[in-house]
Amino acid sequence: MTGHGNACHTLEVPPGIYLHVSAVSELLIEYKMLIAHAVARHCMSKSLCLVGRIHNGPPRKGLLKYVDLAENRDGSVGGGFLTSLLRKAKNSREVREIVNEAARRFGGTIPWQLLSAAAHVSAGPSVDDPQLAGTLLAIISPKDMPYVWEGVLRAVLGNASRHKNGAVALNAFRLLVTRNTPMTTTDYARVIHSGIDSSEEEARLVHKLLQQPCPTELDPRTIGVLLKVCHVRHNLDLAGRVWQWAAPRRHVRHGDQELCNVMAQYLLLSGRAGNIAVAHQVWQEARNMGLAHLPVVTGSMLSVLAMHGADGETLELLKDIPPASLNSYMVTSALTAFSHSGNVDAAHALLEQVEMHGSQTPSASIQSYTALVDGYARRGDFASALAIIDRAKCQRVGEDDVMWMTVLGPCRRFKNLPVAQTAFAAIQRLGSPEHRASAYVLMSDIYNACGDTMAALRMQQERLRKGLRKERGAATLTMDNGETHVFYVREIPPVLVPATRAIEQKLKEWSRWLGLCGISDESIRCQHSEKLALAYAVTQGMRQIVLRKNLRICDACHEASKQITIFESISIHHWDRSRMHVMKDGKCSCHDRY
Ligand SMILES: [Zn+2]
Ligand SMILES: [Zn+2]
Repeated sequence: MTGHGNACHTLEVPPGIYLHVSAVSELLIEYKMLIAHAVARHCMSKSLCLVGRIHNGPPRKGLLKYVDLAENRDGSVGGGFLTSLLRKAKNSREVREIVNEAARRFGGTIPWQLLSAAAHVSAGPSVDDPQLAGTLLAIISPKDMPYVWEGVLRAVLGNASRHKNGAVALNAFRLLVTRNTPMTTTDYARVIHSGIDSSEEEARLVHKLLQQPCPTELDPRTIGVLLKVCHVRHNLDLAGRVWQWAAPRRHVRHGDQELCNVMAQYLLLSGRAGNIAVAHQVWQEARNMGLAHLPVVTGSMLSVLAMHGADGETLELLKDIPPASLNSYMVTSALTAFSHSGNVDAAHALLEQVEMHGSQTPSASIQSYTALVDGYARRGDFASALAIIDRAKCQRVGEDDVMWMTVLGPCRRFKNLPVAQTAFAAIQRLGSPEHRASAYVLMSDIYNACGDTMAALRMQQERLRKGLRKERGAATLTMDNGETHVFYVREIPPVLVPATRAIEQKLKEWSRWLGLCGISDESIRCQHSEKLALAYAVTQGMRQIVLRKNLRICDACHEASKQITIFESISIHHWDRSRMHVMKDGKCSCHDRY
């Protein structure tokens, strides 16, 4: 093989040998053109089998390199080989490359074993791509599906749930259901947590979950996931059930971090449900378990007390906490509790104490200062509110639009135009478009309240000219079966159009009753979203109504709703942007500090 010219003709290639194209290219490099020519000619003349004429390009990288290598050695690259290679994949690209390679080799019908392995790897920690895992599962033909290992489906479900990929999670869940395997609580938890976009489907799943017997194996993470779902969907029945399920586990793993989070979450949830009694029970349990002192748990309890404006209990609780271990979440919660209950002196004292201690780690955040500003503004003490804003600036905490919005809001009730103008200017300077729009609307209302209708109109025109849109008021009603409906101002959701007449009838009835009681029916005349939602709920026979509003409740709605609780003998749990109102027998838990 050393000579030139004729030497190439003497090259012997034993007949029947399998040569791959890439082997030829390797020869090209090693023995230069002459020999390669000979080989190529030999291949043609002897019709040598060129196994797997898949890849004709330059040497490939990544996992495909091993495909080429294997082929060079013995010429056989089957499904088994590719599957084992797949398990080494480190990212989505590598998984896709191998699957594509398989598709080319198997002419489109990729073996289910390979697809199943690919889905498993994609849902695993090294690749972590739920969308890819879902796509791969979808390629497996229905006739092969029963052979796919359950563990693969559960892995895809879990991964999709973590990433909130509802479509993939639901598909994996359904595949599990069709094979008649008993579904576990965890399976339900995962599919619900994934955030599937059909609320009916979700309500159905939650319903099924509630029928599940108490699971013997429920780890705190699953409980946490379920509580998170309850939190987002405001499903407190399920939360109560989950808490019961968790009871045996709660005492097993002592001081577990996951468990503390679960506890804190449940505390918050029961607070949000307006069920302070349950919150107290949970708090007591946390104390018995020695978890109450942990910042996340204490912070949640303070936050619950804040929602209900329970300043007395907040003071009690703070007594046990050394000032140095207060974090900003706890401080803000406590300040909010004091502000919501109108106990601004306690709030002021706490802030001072925190400022003294907080030299190294500032534990009073801008939210803490805002809570106190809010407290002063709600009672009409604007001088003190503005002084706190100055103080926040001095402490280098700064000011923001949220802070000034808490000042601007009460200016309407107290008809304080000069302060309103200061706040308005600050919001225009610091605010997001959304807050700036709200400020215009509020300012217009304030001018109206002060009798300057021309200025009010100017404000609205200026807002429109600047293209500032205010977020539309929306009220979300949760029905007894877990379904939710969203109502907007003067707008009944399309699916409830058949109920329009009944709703209008109810509103008329209320209008008359409010007139008799000497209360403004403005919120009904203007068809505020929460009034529409409330009317629908009552016509459906609901007695305990849970409403959530995206904005703060307006004073007209607050007064009307309170009165309606007497007329209809109902209770209303009304969540607004900043707090919770539990209305019953004509009274509200906020003591009219809204
Ligand atoms: Zn309203
Ligand atoms: Zn209220």
